[in-house]
Amino acid sequence: MQMKYVTTICPYCGTGCALNLVVRDGKTVGVAPSNRSPVCSGKLCSRGLHAADALNEGRVVQPVVKGETSDWETAIGKAAELKKYAAGEIIIITSPRITNETQYLVWKFAHSLGAAIGVIHGGSGVPTVKLDELKDADVILALGNVMQALPLTGNRILQAKENGARLLYLGPQSYTAVQADTVEITDEYKELPPGFGALLKNAAHPAVVYMANDSAAAKLAEGLGISAAVLYDTNNGRGTSLMGIGPLSLQESTKAALVIAETPLMEQDIYADILQKLDSLELTVVAASAETSLSAIADIVLPIASQHESDGTVTNWEGRVQMLRKAVDSPEGVKSLQEVLAELAEKMGFGIPSGTPEEMYTALAGEISAFGNSTYEQIAKPEGVFVQEV
Ligand code: SF4
Repeated sequence: MQMKYVTTICPYCGTGCALNLVVRDGKTVGVAPSNRSPVCSGKLCSRGLHAADALNEGRVVQPVVKGETSDWETAIGKAAELKKYAAGEIIIITSPRITNETQYLVWKFAHSLGAAIGVIHGGSGVPTVKLDELKDADVILALGNVMQALPLTGNRILQAKENGARLLYLGPQSYTAVQADTVEITDEYKELPPGFGALLKNAAHPAVVYMANDSAAAKLAEGLGISAAVLYDTNNGRGTSLMGIGPLSLQESTKAALVIAETPLMEQDIYADILQKLDSLELTVVAASAETSLSAIADIVLPIASQHESDGTVTNWEGRVQMLRKAVDSPEGVKSLQEVLAELAEKMGFGIPSGTPEEMYTALAGEISAFGNSTYEQIAKPEGVFVQEV
């Protein structure tokens, strides 16, 4: 029996906790906390503790064309028909859970194809506090259920409370509301309740916390002019946003789509609202590591590696770039997203960058200035490297 521990990043929320995947005989069998990360200091929430199971669930291991299993050559050939569509007719819906390096390749691929690129739930807010600074705030305004979405970011808020901070809450009934000192239950965030403004104004270190994909909360928070923790709910939502990839919707003119599918790690089916529209397109190609609701409606499904099957980097909500490490090999028949994009691009008659994850990070850092201050080697340290403000 061969056993090893691979230090990587939790695949779930944008807090970016480090964890050790326990690998036995080439399979992930469990999770152990990582004491070396300043993000989580050896703690994990229940989702992180069960990450090993979720990473293996419902894998797709063979290409599918029109509901029938297929070989790779046929599937890539059919998927390359995306090239027939003009700009304005084709979109790429990418996942904010893929690494910075593969996101960079999807972005390059979209540009070469002339396709619009975006995510289903995205955000574009720029946080002005770091995770660890939250515990020093003396009044914190939480807009919505931030503590349930990012549990260990929520821990820092509770730490601030233990240090004497007052926690104000505005939003629907929720776990965060239960933890707050002063609560206003509402489904809207149009204005601050009476009294909240004065408490924030009189505080020495006030802070507001909200989700990056909550535009109403963002609007209210921006008007306050105080330190803001803008939380991304996926493990590379911030990195995706830094590449200028934001929310995207299908237009009347959309005729074809390439979807880099989210995995069953998501707790709700984020495709439910657009499933019917995707189904009605002339061509829908889905690249996925596991079965999703898209599997039933896709014209072509291309099986890709899951998060713990290749190296790369991800960026947490505060802008900390950290190393995601390969723990196991992909199942037979599965390709990396990088390979799939390269094969599709070649078939379509254009090229995209290629190389090791380190070479891809260097290329990304040379092109996207937020990443320009760090090297792959620096990111390998337990504390990672913060992106630079641009
Ligand atoms: S807080 Fe988020 S990143 Fe940390 S263990 Fe929980 S789900 Fe994973």
